[in-house]
Amino acid sequence: MKYDREYTIALAGNPNVGKSTVFNALTGLKQHTGNWVGKTVGNAVGSYIYHNDLYEITDLPGTYSLCAHSAEEVIARDHICFAKPDVTVVVCDASCLERNLNLVLQITEITDRVVICVNMIDEAAKKNIGVDIQKLSDILGTEVVATSARSKKGLDKLLSAIEKTASGENCRAPNPMIYTKRTESAISELMLLANGITDDTRKQRFICLRLLQNDDDMKKSLCSKYGICSEKYEPLLQRAEELILQTDKPFADETVSCIFITAEGIAAECVRKSTDKKFIRDRKIDRILTGKLTGIPIMLLMLLAILWITIAGANYPSSLLSELFGKLESLLRDGLSAVGTPPVVNSILTEGVFRVLAWVVAVMLPPMAIFFPLFTILEDYGILPRIAFNLDKSFKKAGACGKQALCLCMSLGCNACGITGARIIDSKRERLMAIITSSLMPCNGKFPTIISIITMFAIGIPAVAGSGFIAALWLCVVIAAAIAAVMLVSRFLSKTLLKGIPSSFTLELPPYRTPQFGKVLVRAFLDRTLFVLGRAVLIAAPAGLIIWIMANVTVGDISLLGHCTAFLDPLGRLMGLDGVILFAFILGFPANEIVIPIVIMAYSEGTALTEISELSALKDLFVSNGWTTVTAVCMIIFVLFHFPCSTSCLTVYKETKSIKWTAISFAVPTVIGIALCMAVNGLCTLLGIA
Ligand code: GDP
Repeated sequence: MKYDREYTIALAGNPNVGKSTVFNALTGLKQHTGNWVGKTVGNAVGSYIYHNDLYEITDLPGTYSLCAHSAEEVIARDHICFAKPDVTVVVCDASCLERNLNLVLQITEITDRVVICVNMIDEAAKKNIGVDIQKLSDILGTEVVATSARSKKGLDKLLSAIEKTASGENCRAPNPMIYTKRTESAISELMLLANGITDDTRKQRFICLRLLQNDDDMKKSLCSKYGICSEKYEPLLQRAEELILQTDKPFADETVSCIFITAEGIAAECVRKSTDKKFIRDRKIDRILTGKLTGIPIMLLMLLAILWITIAGANYPSSLLSELFGKLESLLRDGLSAVGTPPVVNSILTEGVFRVLAWVVAVMLPPMAIFFPLFTILEDYGILPRIAFNLDKSFKKAGACGKQALCLCMSLGCNACGITGARIIDSKRERLMAIITSSLMPCNGKFPTIISIITMFAIGIPAVAGSGFIAALWLCVVIAAAIAAVMLVSRFLSKTLLKGIPSSFTLELPPYRTPQFGKVLVRAFLDRTLFVLGRAVLIAAPAGLIIWIMANVTVGDISLLGHCTAFLDPLGRLMGLDGVILFAFILGFPANEIVIPIVIMAYSEGTALTEISELSALKDLFVSNGWTTVTAVCMIIFVLFHFPCSTSCLTVYKETKSIKWTAISFAVPTVIGIALCMAVNGLCTLLGIA
């Protein structure tokens, strides 16, 4: 198909303003939408056709500014600056236009082909907030369109505004920012020396401004893209440095505050505000959810409720799945024999690979299928930013930042999700801190092990009414211990390896929004549950094979497994555990959920993983192998604090691109776990507690 013209469009905006929704509405590409800060990480590309022109649209990561403190800001800034899209659409939230205008003003400094999309106009109207679109367009000198992307209102106008701006039919240029006299004269001086860098005067002015702002990172990009480090522009760089040295008030601070003041002024002229019922209701809810006395207890209650529903709800489907997989295993075994598969291969496939896979799916799928949707509802409703707000102070005291709390929440589902989620943290130091500490949080893979040990050794068997609730309560205590460990480790890191001052960030408390339940279910199931499960399954299959080999290959009458456990036994005993348990953790590196099956296999001297569905039989097996309450406590400690699973390690490496930080992330929880287990075991031995 031949198009008349082809254009490139960039979609920019603060996080959570409905950018992905606009993107989806324009392109029809399905991308998920959520309700917490920093949802759109990475670029998504899509395209649409309008009046036989092809528009290729890039969804930039959500950012508050282009001053490049975070990876997202660098991506967004570099794309607008260097990829030179034909039009940059800046999506704004009509309810908080003032904050959004900061980004608008920064973008109009780089390019004059801008369309402002004032989104969520419906929500603003509900709050009785009105935006004078025409006035805003006059003041900014750009096309401004009001939309309500969720209900697809105003999109036709947006399409037409983009077309006009892309084709040059609209030849208005945004009004330039006017800085203080001092900055303006410095820019003018540099502009004379910057002649010829580009024929776009707006960009040339932007380059001079960035040089004055002493932005090293940007300078490097400008050197590679515009060759400003060549001999020709030496006088420019030199003069910029002189001007910077001549002043004790940095240009960067001055320009930032100038943009803030301008945004405030524009908002004051264009926004008509009034406090409406929903707004007042939201503030009332906020007062409770983020109150000094109520905030943290309510958070804990919510956590308790989620865990309880997960534990109580997962039991039945888990046992159904186990039964089903048991039957499937027999069918598989019979089928393989029928086609003449040698017994050894049959055993490897059924008792090795299939059994581990089945175990992982049966144990992980039900709790994840309950936990993730519940969690996603909280996220969509707008609760997660409130949790970050409540924990902000404590995290600051620990030398970290409040957004780390969001990563920790995500780590509860899956550590790898928490590690990737750390991208929302702007400062590199704090991001690393969040990455290193996220594997201190117990994830869905660890919950089943912790719950079964708690049930066997703390609640008692047979299960009584309400034991699910008691298990959830214990689990809350375990999670509270994990959070305490995160704080302590963050504090330690901020004093040693990751020294620095906690950055202050604008914590946005978005309005409460009723979640779209259908979307929540699809997103929680497809994006999270199946994603995590898929990864676990991928890893579990080869792990099943290795475990089978370890248990079945013998050297001098003892299996490899036996040799390894005997070797690790002394260290295990020091930690209140034994060699079998330690080795199970090592073999369980691919997925935490296979630790207990390996222990069972080794204790029962079997050559394949066995599932003991009766917890009382399991407890008998453990006790006959020397388990005491101290072993159970040390086991819980080590489940909680040991090396991250292989998926998490890989994710840390992918996020940090550094072997050093991956090794540190591996070592920190392991050292804590070993030290704590030794301390608890030592203390109990001293006090004569068994
Ligand atoms: P992004 O982070 O900027 O990509 O924002 P999303 O597109 O993920 O949207 C965040 C939330 O706002 C989602 O729950 C959307 O359904 C909702 N949303 C997006 N556009 C509108 C709108 O115009 N009106 C209302 N009421 N909600 C919207």
